Amino acid sequence: MALEILTHDNPSSADGATCDESTERVILPTLAEWRTREAPTREASDATTDEPTQRPRHAGAERADRIPRAYALMTAEELDRRIAAARATLGERLVILGHHYQRAEIIKYADARGDSFKLAQFAAARPEADYILFCGVHFMAESADILSQPHQKVILPNPAAGCSMADMANIAEVEECWEALDDLYRDEAPDADGLQPVIPVTYMNSAANLKAFCGRNGGIVCTSSNAAQVLRWAFARGRRVLFFPDEHLGRNTALALGIAPEQIAVWNQRLDFGGIEDDQTLRDAKVILWKGWCSTHQRFSAEQIAEARAQYPGVRVVVHPECSHEVVEAADENGSTEYIIKVIEQAPAGTIWAVGTEINLVKRLADEHPDQTIFCLDPIVCPCSTMYRIHPAYLAWVLEELVAGRVINQVSVDAATAEWAKVALERMLANKAA
Ligand code: SF4
Repeated sequence: MALEILTHDNPSSADGATCDESTERVILPTLAEWRTREAPTREASDATTDEPTQRPRHAGAERADRIPRAYALMTAEELDRRIAAARATLGERLVILGHHYQRAEIIKYADARGDSFKLAQFAAARPEADYILFCGVHFMAESADILSQPHQKVILPNPAAGCSMADMANIAEVEECWEALDDLYRDEAPDADGLQPVIPVTYMNSAANLKAFCGRNGGIVCTSSNAAQVLRWAFARGRRVLFFPDEHLGRNTALALGIAPEQIAVWNQRLDFGGIEDDQTLRDAKVILWKGWCSTHQRFSAEQIAEARAQYPGVRVVVHPECSHEVVEAADENGSTEYIIKVIEQAPAGTIWAVGTEINLVKRLADEHPDQTIFCLDPIVCPCSTMYRIHPAYLAWVLEELVAGRVINQVSVDAATAEWAKVALERMLANKAA
């Protein structure tokens, strides 16, 4: 059987240009490149004897990125056959979840697709499934583990699939910020208005220990679909909000709630960029943002929107709120991944859409709605490079290990962290229900 060489199907523009994220190949070789460089011979690829091989990590990734060579060498057909056989053997004991940003080769295996929170809820609603194979990124698998039943095991096929935005805030930095704010606001009259000086709010796209930090400190989690509601909840309890890790979602939500731009400060600028000159800025702030961003959504610009409007008169522009405020302002609509799907599903035939979100989702929407014209706002289209680390070879590997009675690449949040993270998540859920 001929060795299939997978290409890095990172989409490119018509003129062949590729996005910055496609330079991932420099720091994370694709399976094809890895095969060429590292795989010795077809004969040496016995899955049962081969030791996992270490691949280079992206900067900041602390999790291993390993797979036996044999799986990396399998053809798409062989992987399909093995995945199907393992699924049939595992039956109802297994559920496979696929995030909207996964490529088609992964989504085709998913029992359910959705955003991170919807998938975590889906997993919790399937208690008969012992194994939850989460085709997403690390923080999503953590949330699924927190919300799932104690007997359920959550598996991230490739543990190196992280989220570059989530990695931009870590617990040590956030605690350092929290202590500094605590010092700064200590002299405020505590009970003048019954409000706390500051309430921590973390975006779903964050590590479990940051969700736990919010749980312990009177804070809450938000998603991109309920951020405004969550900020209202926080302002009913505090004078200010510390929002992490996404600067853009925080700013877009705060401005939409009518908070003045001068009442929005960026914490990290105080440390790194000289943007906050005195403590008074932090005293006057209503929202203190963490300087984190999504490398996928940061690519969209107001210029691209102007070009789309010039090229397609009547085009509707919908973007994700992880885009900059300039982009959100220039768009017709903005909202979560689920919102974007919904508005396109409900649009009449003939509608033209320029969409500012991850390319795999945009391509899928275009395929599923051929009666509409749907394209990505960025002509040099770009996938989420961390989601991209989930490949069918990893699915085949972890599924066959499950069939053999071995759980590998499990994501398990320790009990103390899970307890407090759940508090913050449940505050969000209770707020939603209210
Ligand atoms: S699209 Fe952005 S926020 Fe979402 S997982 Fe990828 S890097 Fe993280």
